[in-house]
Amino acid sequence: MTQSFRITLLPGDGIGPEIMAVTVDVLKAVGSRLNLAFEFQEALIGGIAIDEAGSPLPEETLAQCRQSDAVLLAAIGGYKWDTLPRHLRPETGLLGLRAGLGLFANLRPATILPQLIDASSLKREVVEGVDIMVVRELTGGIYFGEPKGIFATEMGEKRGVNTMAYTESEIDRIGRVAFETAQKRSGRLCSVDKANVLEVSQLWRDRITALSADYPDIELSHLYVDNAAMQLVRWPKQFDTIVTGNLFGDILSDAAAMLTGSIGMLPSASLGADGPGVFEPVHGSAPDIAGQDKANPLAQVLSAAMMLRYGLNQPEAANMIETSVLSVLDQGYRTGDIMADGMTAVGCKAMGEALLKTLA
Ligand code: NAD
Repeated sequence: MTQSFRITLLPGDGIGPEIMAVTVDVLKAVGSRLNLAFEFQEALIGGIAIDEAGSPLPEETLAQCRQSDAVLLAAIGGYKWDTLPRHLRPETGLLGLRAGLGLFANLRPATILPQLIDASSLKREVVEGVDIMVVRELTGGIYFGEPKGIFATEMGEKRGVNTMAYTESEIDRIGRVAFETAQKRSGRLCSVDKANVLEVSQLWRDRITALSADYPDIELSHLYVDNAAMQLVRWPKQFDTIVTGNLFGDILSDAAAMLTGSIGMLPSASLGADGPGVFEPVHGSAPDIAGQDKANPLAQVLSAAMMLRYGLNQPEAANMIETSVLSVLDQGYRTGDIMADGMTAVGCKAMGEALLKTLA
């Protein structure tokens, strides 16, 4: 029997439409091989939504996302919208989508593919075999805490304020996602905070430690964020699953990402308690190469694999996509961002065609 899934596509800005087109073709090919039917519906987000609907996250977009089984997002943003007031910036649409769907957990794998070891800026022996999953809290912490704003002091000077705050329940729910993720991996979890200085981090550490009683199979450790940043570039193989708050996770997941050498290869998943998850590449809209058929579509394609695995419970389809990516790399195809001596340079479309050939 054919299983069907309703997928909202949010191509967004810059290279978004190019990498999304490749990914939709890949999903169709996998669907026809495994008897999965995808009903795709496109919606607006980011800069293009500002231009066409006057808001970076039109209400129809959020409503449509809520009614789907999963949301596949490309990227938003560009120079054109950088000077608009905050509520009209493309990024505000992204934060609104995460909040609107209750996506509190962001999963970002940083896996070194054997074919791309030399793309890393670190030595081969340091990065070979690195396989890290960063679990970042996404809807709390300093990006959302109140009070926030730029206020005038009594002296008439401006003062910018943000507040880092977490409740016990917010820590517990991300903590559980992290422990369960570690259970599916090698069983090691490192919680990252700044408990030596911040009260909010002390509560974080206390709750994560308390939760560990429910997961006796997981080996839990704690690191301060400054040390974690150092350890990530010193000896990344010591990490398996990392859990941390919104701000620290934003920074550490980018650092972990760069161990792999190319931002064009990295997918991510954002999950809530129930309802659809959002699956998107880690990179942005790359306005510098948009419309030139230069973008690497593989992070978007691998995001679709994460969608199949974590959002739609279709591990076989996810494996098929991941295997096809490894296969095109084995065949020597490289977009500009991962190009190396002796490899075959291709553009976004040709990389898509190579994937389809492998899947056929
Ligand atoms: P970026 O990730 O868009 O680009 C950084 C560099 O990496 C650029 O040189 C770009 O050409 C390259 N790059 C990125 N993705 C690539 C791909 N798939 N293939 C080949 N090369 C790739 O980051 P940025 O330049 O800091 O930001 C550009 C815009 O994207 C900004 O408006 C920013 O706000 C936005 N942004 C959006 C998201 C998102 O949608 N989640 C994330 C980060 C940045």
